[in-house]
Parts: sequence; C-alpha cells; structure tokens
Amino acid sequence: MKLVFERSAEGRGTRYLPECDVPERLPAAALREKPLRLPELPETEVDRHYTCLAGQTHGVNDGFYPLGSCTMKYNPQINEKMASLPGFVNIHPLQDKESMKGCREVTEKLEQLLCEITGMDAMTLQPAAGAHGEFTGLLVIKAYHRSRNDTGRTKIIVPDSAHGTNPASAAMAGFDVVSIPSDDHGCVDLDALREAAKEDTAGLMLTNPNTVGLFDPNILEITRIVHEAGGLCYYDGANLNAIMGIARPGDMGFDVVHVNLHKTFSTPHGGGGPGSGPSGCKSFLAPFLPGKDSPQSIGNVRSFGGNFLVEVKALAYILTLGREGIPEAARNAVLNANYMRVKLADIYPMAYDTICMHEFVMSLEKLKHETGVSALDVAKAMLDYGIHPPTMYFPLIVHEALMVEPTETETRETLDEAIRIYREIHEKAVKDPEGMHRLPLHTPVRRLDEVTAARNPVIRYDFDA
Ligand SMILES: *Cc1c(COP(=O)(O)O)cnc(C)c1O
Repeated sequence: MKLVFERSAEGRGTRYLPECDVPERLPAAALREKPLRLPELPETEVDRHYTCLAGQTHGVNDGFYPLGSCTMKYNPQINEKMASLPGFVNIHPLQDKESMKGCREVTEKLEQLLCEITGMDAMTLQPAAGAHGEFTGLLVIKAYHRSRNDTGRTKIIVPDSAHGTNPASAAMAGFDVVSIPSDDHGCVDLDALREAAKEDTAGLMLTNPNTVGLFDPNILEITRIVHEAGGLCYYDGANLNAIMGIARPGDMGFDVVHVNLHKTFSTPHGGGGPGSGPSGCKSFLAPFLPGKDSPQSIGNVRSFGGNFLVEVKALAYILTLGREGIPEAARNAVLNANYMRVKLADIYPMAYDTICMHEFVMSLEKLKHETGVSALDVAKAMLDYGIHPPTMYFPLIVHEALMVEPTETETRETLDEAIRIYREIHEKAVKDPEGMHRLPLHTPVRRLDEVTAARNPVIRYDFDA
C-alpha cells in the first residue's frame, strides 16, 4: 500500500488541522527552522489511508488471537465508554485535589478490589507496566531488608520457568539472580530451591501459573522454604486469568505481587500500551510502597497516579463481572485452554501433558526432526487462515515451543475452527514439508527478514530517496 506521504499532493494544503487558537509564546530558539512536512491530502484520502492500514493488522476484532502469556482477550466496549466519560478524560493531574474526589474514589476502590483479589493489604497503581510493577515490588523488598539492617541479602531466586522479565527486573533492582531448574513436571525443583535459599536470599520471584501454563502444586512448600531462609516471596501475577476470584497469592504465602491490568482486567494492548502494573503487598511492607505518606516509602516510580484511564477500565471490568463473574471468567479461561489441549495432543505433543491453567505449551521438536518443519513454519502457515499464531519459541525451556492461550472470551465454535486449522496445518506439514517453508502466501507481506528488521530497522521515511 502507499504511504500517506505518497498519497500527498504538494500545494493541496493541510486545512484538516484546526487553526491555533492560543497565543504563540514559544521562545525563538524552540521554533522549527523549516515548516513541518505534513502530508497534504483531503479527508477522504486520510480516511482511506487509515482504513487500509487497519485492514493490514490483526486484532482481537478480526479473529482468534491466542498469543500465549499475552492474553489477547476481548475487552468489552462498555469499559472504553466508561474511560471516555468527560469527568475522567478532562482532568489535569495538577488540578486542585478537592475537585477530583470522584477520580480518587475510582483509584481507591480499584486498590481495594485488587487487594481483595490478590489477598494483599496495600496496593500502588503507579507502575505503568508489568515489568515496572516487578521493579517496584523488588525495590520494596530491598527497602524492607535494608530497614532491618539485613544487608547481606543480595540474591533473588528465579525458577527457569519464570517470565523473562523476572530475572531482568531483579537485575535492574540491583540483585544477583540465582536461577533454579524446573523438575520433570515443569514445576519448581524443591531440592534446588532448598539449596538456593539461605542467608543471602532477599527473596524468590515466582511466575504462577508458570510459563508452561502450570499451577505449581508445591506452592505452599515453596513459600515456606523461602520464608524459613529469611527471604520474601514475590508473585508475578501479570496474568491472573486462571486464578482470579478462585485462589489468592496472599493466601499462598506471598508478600508482594503485581498484576497486569492490560492482560487480565480489560485494557487492549496489542499496540504496546498504555498499560498498568499495580504492585501490592502485605501490611508489614505497606510503608515502603511508592506514593505512600511514609518516610520509608521507596519514592515515586511514576509521575502522579499511574495510567488513570486504564484504571477506570479495570474498575468497570471488575464491577461488571462481580463476585460471580470473575471466577467464572477464570474457569472458562482454564476450560478453553484444556479443551484445545486435549483436542490437539495426539498430533502436537504437549511439553507437559497434564491439566493446564489458562494456556498450554506444545513442542514441535519431533515434527521438526522428522520433517524439517519448525514451530516458525507452523506459525507462519496459520497467517493464511486469518488467525494469529501462538507465541513462538517461548518459554525457552521448551524446544520448538508454541504457547497457546485461547482466553475465556472465545466461543466453542471458534475453538473448534482453530483446532481444525491446527490439524490441517499438521497434515500439510507431513505431506509437503518443503511447501511449508514458503508460507504465508496470502498476507500483505510474506516471510520477513526478521534479523535485519530487528538489527537495522528502517523507521524513518526517506523523503529524498
Ligand atoms: C506480560 C508479563 C509480564 C510483563 O508485563 P509487561 O506489561 O509486558 O511489562 C511479566 N510477567 C508475566 C507472567 C507476563 O505474562
């Protein structure tokens, strides 16, 4: 398709922009030297340009989007409506607090409900994403040990089935990361944990359900071991879809948790934001949270109250689903994942063939070995069917991994159709493995040079070319 600049005709003007209606007071040094180069085209063309662009992407509104770990579920429109109410949209963070009582009620109510859902006592809404919530929680853990002069605790234990952001956040927060292996069932190896947990342990970060989609059956023993060694327990609850309303990190012995409002609580995030990763903790850690009126607070991790409109959507979502709807959504997320898993396991070997939570991981190692068709080939083939591929090559502990998270908002018919497509692709892979390397055939672009795209991305339009 043509770029918007290629549709432009010089001299047509840019009257679609409103006139400036405030005095221009910029200092001369801040003014641009050359006029801004804007595409010059009529509204019809602008409209067509964006409609065309929208047609080249794939969103939850287009079709099945089982991107494991990311939860591309349908986010009810009503929550967007709530977040576009003028009273929420037109506030300014510096306006007088008295005039923002309604907005404060939203954030306080949300904090309280998230505490209830996670089993925590206090919550900050400041973190702008999941990894940011992790970083915040880890700084809280650090401040706690420091407040007790327990400064030898420099290590964070992270199982190898954790989300990739866990070791990264621990390192960012200034900890040394101790990685421990999973056992044969894909869960934390208790002996390895016992060995790692000692006087230099600041804490453990656990992704649960872990990245192979399993709820760790030894969870109580895990938190006991870490506490006994004097460490704190961090629960990565970015993806709370399988357990919300059913089980609470706080009841499993965890001291700190974060959740992703953009995965679990109704904010679309395919375009990369804005998100929100509230961080919660037990009462003994509350004085360390950001934004709290306490000398022990770690300080702000973001300006003002966080991504407020994302918070409005989360509150609307929680209140509309309510006490019955939240666990029902979780049960359906688990049901849909297990339904697909069971219907595919005979041809796509599961990394761990057992009841999963909201997602499951298949390993295409055998297919690759026998036919040369990789997880990448299978994922690319799916594009021709108008469905989004699962997450590929993650988690790292599974070779040729495809990680499928159907989500609770898909119908039985959609799941059956996806299962049919997955099976048909497998048949193709066995019959015509060579042909699989050439797919997709029907997308706007075919196979991309992903390495060059990552290493040397061209993100500027070259006007003079
Ligand atoms: C997505 C995810 C994260 C990171 O969240 P971001 O908002 O992308 O920073 C952390 N942990 C788990 C388990 C996740 O699924």
